[in-house]
Amino acid sequence: MEHPENDSKYIGLQVNGGVAQPPSVNPYLQHRRRRMATPGELVEGILKGDITMLSRAVTLVESLVPEHQTMAQEVIEKCLPYSGNSRRIGITGVPGAGKSTSIDVFGLHVLKQGGKLAVLAIDPSSERTKGSILGDKTRMEKLSVHPDTFIRPSPSAGSLGGVARKTRETIVLCEAAGFNNVFVETVGVGQSETAVHSMVDFFLLIQLAGTGDELQGIKRGIMEMADGIVINKADGDNVSRAQLAQAQFKSALQLFPPTASGWKPEVLTYSGYYELGIPEVWSMIDRYFDYVTGNGYFNRRRQEQSRYWMYETINEKLRDRFYRNTEIEKVLPTLEREVLSDRLSSFIAAREALDLYFDNIKPTHG
Ligand code: GDP
Repeated sequence: MEHPENDSKYIGLQVNGGVAQPPSVNPYLQHRRRRMATPGELVEGILKGDITMLSRAVTLVESLVPEHQTMAQEVIEKCLPYSGNSRRIGITGVPGAGKSTSIDVFGLHVLKQGGKLAVLAIDPSSERTKGSILGDKTRMEKLSVHPDTFIRPSPSAGSLGGVARKTRETIVLCEAAGFNNVFVETVGVGQSETAVHSMVDFFLLIQLAGTGDELQGIKRGIMEMADGIVINKADGDNVSRAQLAQAQFKSALQLFPPTASGWKPEVLTYSGYYELGIPEVWSMIDRYFDYVTGNGYFNRRRQEQSRYWMYETINEKLRDRFYRNTEIEKVLPTLEREVLSDRLSSFIAAREALDLYFDNIKPTHG
């Protein structure tokens, strides 16, 4: 007797025999899950604000598979007429400056005014580290559970130009899905700021006080790009140091040439962690938008950016096709050796490779 409860002398509940498991509850489920949405379905979903469809489209944008790329381009093209209606804000700062803490509170502040927020990231190091820490949901605890938020970490494959282009395209999709606020996060240490600057309306630089010589280590170029500088961690006994840094940044900015917008970048202190001074930071950003929409710079900057991305995309595609060409792949190591052993000058070697590509090789598509 398998179950003592089923003994005839046992007074109590009986255990019934079970039924055999069918091979699959729904044999179509797996098949249906794997089916890829068509560009038309993706666009329809995106325009309805369907986050799953948006995510799938972004995955296509990020994919290196040529077929996915073609589909992605179709989706982007169809979404373009519905894009452009967001405030695009770039946020940069060195690791530890408090970007994710701040984005969490800035984001909630923005969402209180209604609308939706997309948080994207550009991290050129993510190819090496295989997985980006920027735009990581676990670092934005409050936003990551907010229903009106879409958080996407940095695309990981390819050159900085490629990574940035994908983020630029993702902005289009997010806007078509009704996201009227877009944050683009990046690390304030290298080339990536230029890429972010070229896709946002407002560029916010997060700084820290209390490291001695405040202006040390900040690339002048990054400061020059900033539309606003905010000094984080102005809390506890750090307040006076933050204020000192604020004064130093203000006087440093006075030596900079006037900005193309005519806007004078402001310097504020705040605390992301203790949520102090957040409305003030946001009212500065509101003032900026009023100012640049008023004087026409907002549209001018967006047009400049469109032109920039046209050339960036041409450059990226040319470079990509050149280096991925099998003939070129074969000849480059030889040319490199010739250059290293002084048998060929760098310029002649480069010209030989380029001549080979442009004159003798039929470009491959993809
Ligand atoms: P990120 O690397 O720029 O994204 O910086 P994080 O947001 O991860 O912050 C780095 C560290 O600084 C964390 O330990 C935060 O808790 C801390 N932090 C962030 N904002 C503040 C702040 O306003 N005040 C203080 N005291 N600490 C902060």
